[in-house]
Amino acid sequence: MGVRMRTYRIAAIPGDGIGRETVPAARRVLDVLSAAHGFELLWTEHPWGCAFHAETGAMMPSDGIEQLGEADAILLGAVGTPEVPDHVSLWGLLIPIRREFDQFVSLRPVRSLPGIRGPLRDERPFDLVVVRENTEGEYGEVGGRLYRGRPHELAVQEAVFTRMGVERIARYAFGLARTRSGRVASATKSNGIVHTMPFWDEVVAEVAADFPDVELTSYHVDALAALLVLDPTRFDVIVASNLFGDILSDLTAALAGSIGVAPCGNIDPTGRGPSMFEPIHGSAPDIVGTGSADPIGQIWSGALMLEHLGEKEAADRLVRALDRVVAAGTVTPDLGGTLSTNEVCDAFIEELRRSGTAA
Ligand code: ATP
Ligand code: MG
Repeated sequence: MGVRMRTYRIAAIPGDGIGRETVPAARRVLDVLSAAHGFELLWTEHPWGCAFHAETGAMMPSDGIEQLGEADAILLGAVGTPEVPDHVSLWGLLIPIRREFDQFVSLRPVRSLPGIRGPLRDERPFDLVVVRENTEGEYGEVGGRLYRGRPHELAVQEAVFTRMGVERIARYAFGLARTRSGRVASATKSNGIVHTMPFWDEVVAEVAADFPDVELTSYHVDALAALLVLDPTRFDVIVASNLFGDILSDLTAALAGSIGVAPCGNIDPTGRGPSMFEPIHGSAPDIVGTGSADPIGQIWSGALMLEHLGEKEAADRLVRALDRVVAAGTVTPDLGGTLSTNEVCDAFIEELRRSGTAA
């Protein structure tokens, strides 16, 4: 019997700004890695984003979601340029993809990197994951504004939490904690937000009962933010609503030392549709074309993608290579190095080749 090569269809959306530099760079690294691990990534390229919008009036073609539905996963660069307002760029590409494919988990791992001095005084290494609810909560469209410009003008914005929504994000977080150190911290604010947050707490506690081996601690989100800065080593998996998770994961990304390194997975764990992987940084218009864009956030997002696809061994190898590339100082200026985007990728590829022959 012949051995069939495992193949995965990956939709690449470089998007805007430095996404067009980091996505091709990450693809190069991922292709070397996949060849070494006996699987193949079958790429399709989708040149959507603000340039596409300037030509066509839309951020992606009308059958864009259908095209992406053919893929096993999506690798996204960045979306947005200063000229196009967020409600056009984000709501024309990123948000529809997240919603159409019900990518209800926003998975954001962060850890200290060898030799990189973040903003923290404490140098003990930390390694944590923020699990952010990605579909409901505080970010919705229920609400409105009245009496514009008048003294009694008002704005109302409703938060929507559903039992299913809270339960499934909590279940994901507890399952993840089982594969790590077995601790979940839940972000709440039940002392100030008296309806939705007590509901969040109740449902999270119910899910916790199904995971007796995982330890749950609830923190008010303000205290949690302070503790993260004072001592991130005490946290492992943090589960949070859409808004709280958004804020906490930007905070934790900053702790690592550069916004350019942090990855993100927009995941539907049921596998009904493709999940999408992207660095947390934006299109960084200020450094486009300088060659100084850090590709690590994009490459690490690729590692999350491989893990999601079931290629855990390759994903782990890529993260180990990342540690060695950073430790060797073969990095871009944001991490204190002098290399270009492509030179960092060369360093990754060299590291992968070295670890491949050593194995
Ligand atoms: P967006 O609205 O698209 O999120 P933004 O302006 O909020 O954009 P970024 O585009 O992430 O945020 O840029 C913030 C700062 O971080 C900029 O100075 C940018 O140059 C820097 N930066 C972002 N990503 C990287 C990267 N990969 N490598 C180096 N610097 C980066
Ligand atoms: Mg931003």
